[in-house]
Amino acid sequence: MIIVLGLVGVVGVKLFGILKENRENFRVVLDNERLHVVTVPAGVLQANCILVADKLSKNAVIVDAGGDPGKEFLSVISDNGYFIKYILATHAHFDHVAGFSKMKKRFPEAKVGVHISDKELYVDVPKQPALFNLPKMGSVPDCDILLKDKQILHLGAIGIKVIHTPGHSPGGVLFDIGPGDVLLTGDTLMMGGFGRTDLWGGSSKALEKSFSKFSTFPDDMIIVSGHGPETTIGYERKWNFYSHFMKFKQRSIPSDTTRTIDREKKEDSFVSSSREYL
Ligand SMILES: [Zn+2]
Ligand SMILES: [Zn+2]
Repeated sequence: MIIVLGLVGVVGVKLFGILKENRENFRVVLDNERLHVVTVPAGVLQANCILVADKLSKNAVIVDAGGDPGKEFLSVISDNGYFIKYILATHAHFDHVAGFSKMKKRFPEAKVGVHISDKELYVDVPKQPALFNLPKMGSVPDCDILLKDKQILHLGAIGIKVIHTPGHSPGGVLFDIGPGDVLLTGDTLMMGGFGRTDLWGGSSKALEKSFSKFSTFPDDMIIVSGHGPETTIGYERKWNFYSHFMKFKQRSIPSDTTRTIDREKKEDSFVSSSREYL
């Protein structure tokens, strides 16, 4: 457990339950006439492995795979005849990509995509577990697409918009599905918390800037994050960013700098957009 929290670095009470539940925790996030989104924790650190499918074209993407996602997840693909067009990473940490080789073998036509700023991290990913005294992992498949900010990939009529949010890692991204339907946040944001910034090119300053990108999303947008349960922009606007992020900021700013609510409202674009909650 210490190792898990050490890597994820997230604040969130519900996470403990999720980690114990393992792959029994298969969840259907959305299943309407256009979109099918399911997720299950997979791998040694139980990162959420996510399937997003366009119901009309049957094209689908697997986002993050820290291990084998298991029967229930895979049967959604086979039972519905989905074609896995992409295997994408929210960021190149081993707990999110250790299952990529298996996925690529299972779905050889899928293109693997990682943000360009995590390119080196992705190549060296087999070395990462050693930092946590975990066994070395196998190699990862070659990256076919180096993702860039604002790039849009397509599953039929459904867009997957890439939003670069460095901080937890240099090439961390959000995937805005729809766009506007579901937001996949990786370890940039998890229910009640956010990813640590002291690993492999992480940066608290960059994360702070990245958080401003959440200000444009509507309250009812569903979030599937890197670990733990689903949440919404509205819930996080109310409970997450301000209290936890401010504690984080206070550790990294000079002690003679005074942060006040009024100052945050002026300077922090996320806070200023959440005025009604403060
Ligand atoms: Zn993670
Ligand atoms: Zn991570």
